[in-house]
Amino acid sequence: MHYRTTIRSLLILALILMWPMGGQSMEKIIKTDAQWREILSPEQYKVLRQKGTEPAFSGEYNDHHHNGTYVCAGCDNPLFSSDAKFDSGTGWPSFFQPVGETHIATHEDRSWFMVRTEVLCAVCDGHLGHVFPDGPAPTGLRYCINSLALRFTTQAPE
Ligand SMILES: [Zn+2]
Repeated sequence: MHYRTTIRSLLILALILMWPMGGQSMEKIIKTDAQWREILSPEQYKVLRQKGTEPAFSGEYNDHHHNGTYVCAGCDNPLFSSDAKFDSGTGWPSFFQPVGETHIATHEDRSWFMVRTEVLCAVCDGHLGHVFPDGPAPTGLRYCINSLALRFTTQAPE
């Protein structure tokens, strides 16, 4: 009896310890500042690594209506499907949901005297844009994303 209880406790412990690795969290890509400067254009670097914002209506994906997937310009992590894209009129590509909750990370941003929710790539921690609670159904969210942080591919997300 005591033996069985111990085995069961060990199994439960093993499950708890393995939980974060259960395919839920994404594997991180970590590069030095110099490596990022090497693979990104100066404009992409400014947005992804320095939390910059491209001017409204300047990005190549603002008025872009093809079927496929928008992946992270820094690490190719699939971020948003064209199915979730909508025309917000703001001048930035806008989506009502990411391809998966684990593909992005959010973080409270208190810069510029505002409280906003920053959206980051969950794999390379690159700055993508912000999310606002004024989007369309079904989520009511508006992911306002810089074109410079994205790369479009006609492939469906894995
Ligand atoms: Zn990334």
